[in-house]
Amino acid sequence: AGARIALDGVGAENAPGRALAAKLDEIKISRALVARARSDTRAHADMRSLVELARDYRLTSVAVGIEDRAARDVAVAVGCELAQGFFVSRPLVPDRLGPWRRWAAGVALTGSLTLTAFAGVGKAAGGGQQTPTLVKGVLATACSLDIPSVAAATGIELRCDRTDVADIYTEASVTPAVREALAQAVARDVAKLETDFGQTFARRPAVYAFATRNSFAFALQDIFGVRGPDAGLLAAANGGITLPRQGAIVINLQNVPNDKDYAIVRHELTHALVHETIGLNATLPAWFDEGLATLVERDGGATTGARSSAVALAVLIEGKTTLGDLEQQTEWAQRNATLDGHAYSVAAEAVRLLETRVSHDGLVRMLHAIGGGATFAAAYANEAGESIADFERSFPSRLAADQSEARITHSPKADGVLWTLSGFVPESTVSVTIDGAGYRREYEVRTDKYGMHQGSFGGTAAKGEYTLTASRAGTTATTTIRT
Ligand SMILES: [Zn+2]
Repeated sequence: AGARIALDGVGAENAPGRALAAKLDEIKISRALVARARSDTRAHADMRSLVELARDYRLTSVAVGIEDRAARDVAVAVGCELAQGFFVSRPLVPDRLGPWRRWAAGVALTGSLTLTAFAGVGKAAGGGQQTPTLVKGVLATACSLDIPSVAAATGIELRCDRTDVADIYTEASVTPAVREALAQAVARDVAKLETDFGQTFARRPAVYAFATRNSFAFALQDIFGVRGPDAGLLAAANGGITLPRQGAIVINLQNVPNDKDYAIVRHELTHALVHETIGLNATLPAWFDEGLATLVERDGGATTGARSSAVALAVLIEGKTTLGDLEQQTEWAQRNATLDGHAYSVAAEAVRLLETRVSHDGLVRMLHAIGGGATFAAAYANEAGESIADFERSFPSRLAADQSEARITHSPKADGVLWTLSGFVPESTVSVTIDGAGYRREYEVRTDKYGMHQGSFGGTAAKGEYTLTASRAGTTATTTIRT
């Protein structure tokens, strides 16, 4: 669902009637007619009638085969809304045109265009009349024909980099170094996700990156049609957002200043792939959607994982939330705010335990089942052999059991190793021993309210293998680290 329906190869002789038009979203004017219209006044008039007919029927008109300036000029002269062909950019696939691409393509064609954002996803999904909503007035700015880099009515100047796997739009003020890093992150994460989920993106991801909260909020409203209050909230709180209907991932760089490897890209690409798999009209509990994206974003990072587990357990034990409270997508941002941002940890832990139960392959199968029309609850029950209600109810106790074991996790850092104790009694004293390579050190640390403590090792000691042991009153955890 959600696909736009186009009628291909339309000429004067096979223009659709009203009954057929009602089922369509757009008509593509045939390559042959476009070619003839450059020199033949009759063909030119036919093309203009088709554009007018499309307008009467509230269809989008697309001129096919715009391979040179003369063809483009014809398309502009007759008022065609979109063009397709090498001259205007790579081929635009109509059923994948988000408002922004539609807009960019329109600008590419006409140099000035009434900027419209389409509220629905077309007749195919909506069942009713498609209603273009005027968001902004006329764009007076001409732009490059090939790369839609437009000082738009919004005042946001964008440039586009087409990489092997994605289209990346960055605000002009984003530095080349950041742009490059972003492109690398997108390439890396598209590959990772396609491997992890055993499928390729059906459509090239479109990633938009904005330098400031302001331009991010502005862009969400003016380019993607997000309501003002929502755009403001998202700009304040989010590092990014995925808009499956618009086919867009939008990154708020000001909110991810320390995200040197752009893990946010992995998070958002996960949303994009998941929603592509389940389809635009399927819904997931917010905790599952966000938890899965957060887990993939974390990419197995042991330190982040240990902290997330401990934080989630504390939040649950204190009775601040249940999975049921984190069900609604529309309430997610609000709930997360009241949990001091810890909703992501709770959700990630829930998905981690869910995945333990059904296996990674089982989780992927669930997504495909939902794409095939199953509800989330049915898909889970089928894989897990228990109801999702059972899972949600027992989640705190399962997480507690999972966390009861004292452990030490570690992860590499620039000058050694970062280690993390977890599963110890909160606010207690634990003795730590580091032993190896002719080195031995023993000291005491204090756990925090989550029963955790973090330390680093390796800056000054000789390179080698060390055993790290933590113990308190009969509880011992140990690990081996290499520096
Ligand atoms: Zn998310």
